[in-house]
Amino acid sequence: MIDRPGVAAAQQAGPLVDTFGRAVTYLRVSVTDRCDFRCVYCMSEHMTFLPKQDLLSLEELDRLCSAFVLRGVRKLRLTGGEPLVRRDVMTLFRSLSRHMESGRLDELTVTTNGSQLARHAADLAACGVKRINVSIDTLDPAKFRAITRWGDLARVLEGVKAAQAAGIRVKINAVALKDVNEHEIASMMEWAHGEGHDLSLIEVMPLGEVGEERVDQYLPLSAVREQLAERFTLTDIAYRTGGPARYVEVKETGGRLGFITPLTHNFCEGCNRVRVTCTGTLYMCLGQEDAADLRAPLRASSDDALLHRAIDDAIFRKPKGHDFVIDRKTRQPAVGRHMSTTGG
Ligand code: SAM
Repeated sequence: MIDRPGVAAAQQAGPLVDTFGRAVTYLRVSVTDRCDFRCVYCMSEHMTFLPKQDLLSLEELDRLCSAFVLRGVRKLRLTGGEPLVRRDVMTLFRSLSRHMESGRLDELTVTTNGSQLARHAADLAACGVKRINVSIDTLDPAKFRAITRWGDLARVLEGVKAAQAAGIRVKINAVALKDVNEHEIASMMEWAHGEGHDLSLIEVMPLGEVGEERVDQYLPLSAVREQLAERFTLTDIAYRTGGPARYVEVKETGGRLGFITPLTHNFCEGCNRVRVTCTGTLYMCLGQEDAADLRAPLRASSDDALLHRAIDDAIFRKPKGHDFVIDRKTRQPAVGRHMSTTGG
């Protein structure tokens, strides 16, 4: 349950609107920085992970998420690292599902690499999870192993099937990678649509050092779209899922294809999101360094007044947007932290 002092503090504070008039209605929570894969564009091969004692407990994560829900967040995505490798993470899903039941939350969802999905799919469905994102960048098992550094594609596809069998809609997310999956995108789309999944393509973002040049990974989606349009009829549609993807309908497959274009078409003007890490650090923008510590106010008292004040201060500082650059001249990442820290 949400405690009474928490409700009072939230009611006093009101909905979250930044200085550009954007309402924050979508929270992404990275429940762990650890992952069982090491995707080449996401992490370096040898990552140092946080000591477990630095992490918020599942109860603290619940309290934090609930504070945002009381402030008008309608969509909650658990992510990571790999969220499904966090021990007992289903306890968190179960407790958060009460906000779906109460009608305060429209959607509880997860972004996963799918490796642990087969054993969690039925429980996720029981918690009211209706749609999930599964990240698959290639359907070639050897290439999949190379991209993830040790992932098993068959196991991920088994997870996708289990999710479907549990009644969960799956959206496939694929990062478009120059020379890696560049020539496979059309066939991935045909596969995804044939299986009844939407597919979203993502431009690689310069987040953290990964040991490879970003310019060698980056494939602009404007070029991908042009190539696809030579073979398929793509029609822009108004369909939205509350995130940054812009969709087209593909006449030949009857499916939807999403484009997430932080480089070629910056979508910050409509940004409705903030992100919290597993240590309770709030990032108001994926592509900026500014952050707010929510762990200290969370732990300072059982009353949420300090927490709400810290959230307000942070939302007031939410920047207009990010400014990613990937070119031969710009070697530095936009921010030092990896996507696995902030939560994708
Ligand atoms: N482990 C989960 C997964 O694989 O989906 C959740 C976390 S992962 C960081 C979330 C998403 O971010 C994945 O779809 C991944 O491909 C994407 N991602 C990671 N690093 C990225 C980067 N530098 N640029 C663009 N997308 C990235």
